[in-house]
Amino acid sequence: MRYPMDEAALQARLLEWYDVNARSFPWRVPPGSGRRADPYAVWLSEIMLQQTTTAAVRPYFEAFMARWQDVNALAAADDGEVMAAWAGLGYYARARNLLKCARVVAQEHGGRFPDQYDALLKLPGIGPYTAAAIAAIAFDRPAVVVDGNVERVMARLHCVEDPLPDAKPLLKAHAARLTPRKRPGDHAQALMDLGATICAVKSPTCPLCPWQADCRARTAGMAEALPRRVAKAVKPLRLGHVHIGQRADGAWLLERRPPRGLLGGMLGWPGSEWQEGEFPDAQPPAKGRWRCAGAEVRHTFTHFHLRLMVHVARLPADSAPARGFFLPAADFRPSDLPSVMRKAFNIARKALAAD
Ligand code: SF4
Repeated sequence: MRYPMDEAALQARLLEWYDVNARSFPWRVPPGSGRRADPYAVWLSEIMLQQTTTAAVRPYFEAFMARWQDVNALAAADDGEVMAAWAGLGYYARARNLLKCARVVAQEHGGRFPDQYDALLKLPGIGPYTAAAIAAIAFDRPAVVVDGNVERVMARLHCVEDPLPDAKPLLKAHAARLTPRKRPGDHAQALMDLGATICAVKSPTCPLCPWQADCRARTAGMAEALPRRVAKAVKPLRLGHVHIGQRADGAWLLERRPPRGLLGGMLGWPGSEWQEGEFPDAQPPAKGRWRCAGAEVRHTFTHFHLRLMVHVARLPADSAPARGFFLPAADFRPSDLPSVMRKAFNIARKALAAD
């Protein structure tokens, strides 16, 4: 028979551990500092951290905070500048929603983020996880914050063998029972840190864990096997072309992608649709002597792999493209491109340099 867990003792041990071992991030206020986290910084970091590692987010977060120091400044920013600053971080719908959200907060909430979960959840780009994280971390509300790290810790602590995603409600219920009314923000961050550092996916370091005495998966010798997951479907492969043309004066032929959909609103190279099965027909966006750059872009998105054939051309001074626009070389920054388009540019640059 399973004994009930002592939630108060678990909470206390976790916070004691966190007070000594909290990770340091530019968006975080250290425990015991007596300061409250800035809701704008918490929101910005949580949006950036969706599907993205802390190491990748850090320089973007610092650049955004230096450039747009509060939500009103971000709300007033130019869309193209924000999209360019986001380039390379991926999942570009986040950047579009970031701007929408900043404008709603500036215009409808007087430039202050709401401090309750339900009101946060109504803002653009803020789902249940992000609303809970902001409510807990920025406003110390006892919201239940459950990300992949927390699911893993809960699955192990309670030895939940049901596979994800079906086990999600049960793991959330376990997390909810553990959420304290005192220091809920620190509790949420402590749990994230425990999952990210000690209760790692592979080889959890149980001897350092504040919950080692209570953990049922550790006792059962099956910590590393949890959480179980339903096998993922194999990602399909899509194929396509990009055309990278440079005019005689150095200007590059680019286009702004449609506002919705994958890479929506980002700068990119003209190209074909991306389809499964076989490469579509290559349709150059302007007349010229196009040739294959001799290498392909390989890139993986959440739901598919992509192979892009790169075509390059030197275009005449009077080139009249059927699509896209010429951007003067002085105004072109490869860093404004999303990663997949930057990969294509790196291939094209080498091919054009060899001309
Ligand atoms: Fe994770 Fe080990 Fe701690 Fe259990 S004892 S929560 S498996 S690190």
